[in-house]
Amino acid sequence: MVRELAGKIALVTGAAAPNGIGRATCLRLARDGAFIVATDMGGAMTLADGPRDRAGLLDEVIAAIADAGGQGMAHELDVTDASSIAACLKAVRGAAGPVDILVNNAGSLAGAGPFLDGKAEDWRTSFEVNILGPMRLSQAVIPDMRAAGGGAIVNIGSIGGLGGRAAFGAYSAMKHAVTGLTKTIAVEFGPDGIRCNAVCPGYIATDMHAASNRRLAEAEGLSLDEMKARRYEAVALRDAGSPEDVAEAVAYLAGPRAAYVTGVNLPVTGGLSPG
Ligand code: NAD
Repeated sequence: MVRELAGKIALVTGAAAPNGIGRATCLRLARDGAFIVATDMGGAMTLADGPRDRAGLLDEVIAAIADAGGQGMAHELDVTDASSIAACLKAVRGAAGPVDILVNNAGSLAGAGPFLDGKAEDWRTSFEVNILGPMRLSQAVIPDMRAAGGGAIVNIGSIGGLGGRAAFGAYSAMKHAVTGLTKTIAVEFGPDGIRCNAVCPGYIATDMHAASNRRLAEAEGLSLDEMKARRYEAVALRDAGSPEDVAEAVAYLAGPRAAYVTGVNLPVTGGLSPG
């Protein structure tokens, strides 16, 4: 079997959520042979069965990778904090080497909701996590990628970054910025052999998606099932996708099969039209 990412170091942000896109991406890239740096902010995450410390959840990601014959390390990394990013990259360089593949996955629904209810502080949080986060991380790894003669950055955008989405306020605005960031980095660093693409998921069955289903159901006075039926009616394939569906697209864009693909914002939406 060809392990097309063997010898590559891949850093994934926001990887702690047990059924999140970040975790699925870590496992998928490890399957292709990459050494995985699974990162997330510190502190506890509230799951259906109670709070769990993100550090412990990251250790479980690395244990699952090891069980499948792969390799990696976990490290705290808050995408809103430049010193946290620097400390993580220093540790990664010391333990494994410079990053070859960056997956900007961490995201926040802060500021999503009816536009007229939007608060500037929530828009600032969304800006910090969803756009300044990928900007900071990209700035931090590009010099090493340049020195190595190339690298791959994959941003996790959103269908909400390809068209307008009612009641997604800051989230949709910031994800549009991610599509622009993706194209800008692709053009500016293409001559250095660095490719930058984005995967733009539609409805993906993660905790973040469940939270947005609940929020919209409450806002519209519908049951959760009614809200899901209404949302998935607009999806050609009539269902939510899985984190693994997104991870598959990330693996393609991060690896040699996409050697001549850059500046692309790839919808992984089951045929959900952007608004
Ligand atoms: P999730 O909520 O399960 O995971 C998001 C992760 O980001 C969490 O682990 C969280 O701890 C982390 N995070 C938040 N703030 C952070 C910070 N400051 N520093 C580091 N990590 C931080 O969400 P998910 O559904 O797996 O989403 C992953 C990505 O996919 C996000 O960028 C999201 O916007 C995007 N997306 C998801 C969907 C969907 O339907 N689930 C659709 C479109 C786009």
